Amino acid sequence: MRKGSRRNDWTVAEEQFLVANAGRIPKRDICEMLRRSSESVRQKAKALRRQGVDVCLRYYRPTMEPCPSCGNLSATIDRHGMCEPCRRRDQLATIEARIADLLPLLTPEQLDTYERNEAKRESRVDPIPEPPSTDGLTRWQQAYREEAYAKAVEATVAANLRRAVKAAQKRKERIEEKVNQ
Ligand SMILES: [Zn+2]
Repeated sequence: MRKGSRRNDWTVAEEQFLVANAGRIPKRDICEMLRRSSESVRQKAKALRRQGVDVCLRYYRPTMEPCPSCGNLSATIDRHGMCEPCRRRDQLATIEARIADLLPLLTPEQLDTYERNEAKRESRVDPIPEPPSTDGLTRWQQAYREEAYAKAVEATVAANLRRAVKAAQKRKERIEEKVNQ
């Protein structure tokens, strides 16, 4: 094969591969898989766009990763390998377990007062944000918005859990006080 003769010999399969993967994986990976230069891929994408094919090579590199514990996309995974919602759920479960241990130590009268008062102390729960519309966006824009949305969801869930932990902590302290009276 003459040097440079690959310039225009794109097969249908290669074209389809490019259209299917542009913007979904880094351009460098596309070049590697097609064994083509960056310039060749760029020119082909340009030519396809001129033919009215929706192909954009810009790739959004995710900044979030799945939490090994719950599998949700997370921006808050710590060195123990858990996202903030998972950590807060653990914290909450520990406090609730402690409360469950303490409740039987209250007198029936104390328990009655406790139940009546605690019912009024629900902590605030913010609703999960609505998913964004991604109609008519490039893959880069879609990926960007989807990640921003995943971050907003995680932040809301984490904030709700932080409030729940705080409330449970106070509840536990009030019961401990009574038990120690
Ligand atoms: Zn998690």
